[in-house]
Amino acid sequence: MIRVLKMRHNKFQIQISYTFVQEMNNMRVFKFGGASVNSAEAVRNVASIMQRYGHEQIVVVISAMGKTTNAFEEVVFAAFYKRKDISEKIRTIKDFHCNIIQDLFNCSNHTVLQYVNDLFEEVEKMSLHPDAGYDEIYDRIVPSGELLSTHIVNSYLHEKSFSTAFLDARDVIKTDDRFRDASVQWDDTLNLVSQRVSGIFQDRRVRFIVTQGFIARTMDGRPTTLGREGSDFTASVFAHCLGATEVVVWKDVEGLLNADPVYFDDTVKIDKISYREAIELSFYGAKVLHPKTIKPLQNKKIPLKVKSFSNPDGKGSVVQESSLSDHLVPCFILKQNQMLISFASKDFSFIAEEKLYHLFGEFNRLNIKVNLMQNSAISFTICVNHPGEKLEPLLKNLSDGFDIKYNENLELLTIRHFNDEVIDKYLKGCKIFLEQRSRRTIQVAFKR
Ligand code: ASP
Ligand code: MG
Repeated sequence: MIRVLKMRHNKFQIQISYTFVQEMNNMRVFKFGGASVNSAEAVRNVASIMQRYGHEQIVVVISAMGKTTNAFEEVVFAAFYKRKDISEKIRTIKDFHCNIIQDLFNCSNHTVLQYVNDLFEEVEKMSLHPDAGYDEIYDRIVPSGELLSTHIVNSYLHEKSFSTAFLDARDVIKTDDRFRDASVQWDDTLNLVSQRVSGIFQDRRVRFIVTQGFIARTMDGRPTTLGREGSDFTASVFAHCLGATEVVVWKDVEGLLNADPVYFDDTVKIDKISYREAIELSFYGAKVLHPKTIKPLQNKKIPLKVKSFSNPDGKGSVVQESSLSDHLVPCFILKQNQMLISFASKDFSFIAEEKLYHLFGEFNRLNIKVNLMQNSAISFTICVNHPGEKLEPLLKNLSDGFDIKYNENLELLTIRHFNDEVIDKYLKGCKIFLEQRSRRTIQVAFKR
């Protein structure tokens, strides 16, 4: 970094300072998601896991408790659409946190309560008079979930004599101002994370830095968020900036599973998977990890472990470089409430570059993400998550040039490393609307 300092008597001095991005050897990053801190009991369990690592220095990234992020999202919605139940919604979230505090500290005037009171007062103010756009207000209100959880967990750890330091992630994770889906500004973030964390950990007595996932700030101080479920990504940003030895994501499952147990009853744990495969799976919609999580880790070859917080001795799963075992287990990703929309050119002209450009321009403008697409000479078909209120403008804006037909209530099944047996098992008797295969992946839009 080169700075020009203006000195007295108008003399200039050039100051050159090197920012040493200090890589901290032997440091891990932990991430605890919402389910791991959704009750007082769960918080005590987090402490018991950390106890096992009490001789190390670890950055601990924590999400909002339970479903708090959804609840704050409802507050933002109510604020914007002037719903009468805002205060009630806020009170419900506050009660949920106060009950956990009550249970953890067993005293009705713990200092953390003052923080909680102030925070909810501020939320109430912001939501009664929103003075910016929806997404910007969202990024001021919804981070409260992470701020609450980290303050509560950190206070609890203090009470239990852990030596922790609290770090406000917004001071070090820097982003652009694309609210609700902000992009990390790597240079600033790298400098700030490494300076702050190595500064704190210079005191060898400090074992854990407690910080938030998901939340950040622009360089000029406006709060932002990294996209839903973004805490995994925060953990990976910290690990990347610090050259950590590994990231451990503590979850309510034994590790990475080959399918979502909500939809499939015979899931298998995957012991080992490559970065590349993990990225592919999250691209197709597997909710295992936030899609942005892998890249910062892959770039520095930092392994990511997924372990169960209810069975910390279990082996879990590891995401790493080698892809030797990727093909061993077929993986299933199911998306529901899909819609198949076909656009046929009215004048019988080919669907080629120009028409596709026009179609995609519209999808992009309405922020409609295409899950699967296929074209023939004069028609183009997409499979998308049901676009809801965006359907009408989509049909309207494209109806001049295209005859548009659609089917609703479909499901989209993606199978990686498929074989005939598994295809048969899951799709036998189903009505198939669209199918696409490559060497490793099959995708089928179907109705049961
Ligand atoms: N609390 C945020 C969410 O629920 C971030 C996260 O949990 O990763 O989306
Ligand atoms: Mg979450």
